[in-house]
Amino acid sequence: APIPSLTLNNGVAIPQLGYGTYKLPPQDTRDLVLAAFEAGYRHVDTAQMYRNERQVGEAVAASGVPRDELFVTSKLNNAFHAYDEAHAAFDRSLDDLGLDHLDLFLIHWPLPAVGRFLEAWRALEEIYRSGRTRAIGVSNFQPHHLRRILDEGTVVPAVNQVEVHPWFGNEEVRAFDADHGIVTEAWSPLGRGRVLDDPTIARLAADHGRTPAQVVLRWHVQRGDVVFPKSATPSRIAENAEVFDFELSGDDMAAVTGLDRAERTGSHPDTEN
Ligand code: NAD
Repeated sequence: APIPSLTLNNGVAIPQLGYGTYKLPPQDTRDLVLAAFEAGYRHVDTAQMYRNERQVGEAVAASGVPRDELFVTSKLNNAFHAYDEAHAAFDRSLDDLGLDHLDLFLIHWPLPAVGRFLEAWRALEEIYRSGRTRAIGVSNFQPHHLRRILDEGTVVPAVNQVEVHPWFGNEEVRAFDADHGIVTEAWSPLGRGRVLDDPTIARLAADHGRTPAQVVLRWHVQRGDVVFPKSATPSRIAENAEVFDFELSGDDMAAVTGLDRAERTGSHPDTEN
């Protein structure tokens, strides 16, 4: 089944499922992104900090998929929150990717100890207005960080990309996003693979004749979040996109949501810097 899109707060369509590229082996990244395109993915999530924008760009160029059918996201490296550096870093991303525009550009972490995300956001707003990215957003922003952007910025972020998976529902942030027209993107949607052995997920997988990864991704999709699972195995890359031809019941959804144990796999946004 084809991958559906959601509509961001500026009218831009985003495929609800994409391909995550964090920690892919650099020498394989080009071919793995091409495998994702072959499996029907049209959305790729990369970042300056992943050091693979060049390989992602090579795959885009080699794919033969028209640029306007692809959705490419990158993120500002933590070192470059200063206004001038944010502008220069964005230019380098376009250069490394070999593109004339991005679809989405994010501030990767708020870095409250650095205290310059509003400055970075001003640069992103200008980049957005210049037409070099179709949308801008943030990542790892808690409601109190978002509040400052909403109060002092001039563009409402299109997305907030945060950790979400069955062991970390992140409900407060998701609710804040939803209340402000911000789409939540769920990073580490499989909890880096750790949630896949959970017995409740195994039971639901058996009930539906699906794999545990498909059950977890379907749960995210039915909650309305955007997901981009990462795998370096072509058969799993294809498997992870086949989640639009079955449905979890209300009870199934509640069973997965009930696994929440407030367990992060990554850093806390207030202390990462
Ligand atoms: P993930 O939750 O997607 O898990 C990936 C791991 O799950 C794989 O390495 C593999 O071990 C396992 N896996 C994947 N598919 C499987 C399958 N079908 N069957 C069995 N096991 C399977 O983890 P992730 O890579 O951390 O997150 C996905 C993407 O989210 C990243 O690649 C990146 O694009 C993004 N991300 C963003 C941030 C951020 O700060 N903004 C942080 C982490 C990740």
